[in-house]
Amino acid sequence: MWKAGMSSEIGKALQAVVDRVKQAAARRPQTLPNVTPRLVAVSKTKSPEMVVEAYQQGQRNFGENYVNELVEKSSDPQILSLCPDIKWHFIGHLQKSNVNKLLGVPNLFMVETLDSVKLADRVNSSWQRLRTVNTQRLKVMVQINTSGEESKHGLPPEETVNTVKHIISRCPALHFVGLMTIGRYGYDLSEGPNPDFQMLLGRRQEVCESLQLPTEEVELSMGMSTDFEHAIEVGSTNVRVGSTIFGEREYPNTPSPEKRSKVVTEEAAEKMKHLTVTEQ
Ligand SMILES: *Cc1c(COP(=O)(O)O)cnc(C)c1O
Repeated sequence: MWKAGMSSEIGKALQAVVDRVKQAAARRPQTLPNVTPRLVAVSKTKSPEMVVEAYQQGQRNFGENYVNELVEKSSDPQILSLCPDIKWHFIGHLQKSNVNKLLGVPNLFMVETLDSVKLADRVNSSWQRLRTVNTQRLKVMVQINTSGEESKHGLPPEETVNTVKHIISRCPALHFVGLMTIGRYGYDLSEGPNPDFQMLLGRRQEVCESLQLPTEEVELSMGMSTDFEHAIEVGSTNVRVGSTIFGEREYPNTPSPEKRSKVVTEEAAEKMKHLTVTEQ
């Protein structure tokens, strides 16, 4: 299912993104926490060779949004032997039935997409059961559906504080580290700051005030290929960048189910949903 990439291009593209991340961080107003933003290289649909190439150029954090693909890629012999310090972020929709599978991923670093109390409880109890091997708490973020679009997963914004409170007080195996949003696609920045990002900032403030947490300790995961610099300028501490590093992902344009992998099909469906919505 993997396509080999042109390695030197990944190195160059990665370096360019790393530089742009640094420059954007330097432009942040001083009122924002002085946290170095983390770059998560989103490698979905891309080959283990491409992950190894980016790793060898110094990249450590990688993101995947399908459990099966992450399970497969993270256990790839090349990745296991050549990328001992890799940090995997799970950034896709997580179903309860897939929790155990996900938590078995070697070098799982963070789950960014908890979107209910029940899911948090399930992840907490599974991680506790695996505790003999996992001495650390599992880092988690809560995903908020800031745009209110039905096609987007995530918690309704007004449930943010209670959910975070639940994780902190009732999920001892989890380490709450921040809030995450995907937001609407294709927002035009000439219309002003992205409202999804502003909403996430507002929810963080509310969480910090209600639960007495320092702002520096509640991260914001927002910003992708098209808007990661803007996201950092307004306070993102974790940007998830895929196509700008690894090249465009390939989507099938004609339906022929037997030829399409599930991974590609689901994302294409999501994109098409979006197209239909914006074209109305
Ligand atoms: C695919 C994906 C990204 C990266 O998207 P690009 O536009 O390729 O940078 C970021 N976040 C999530 C949740 C994704 O699914």
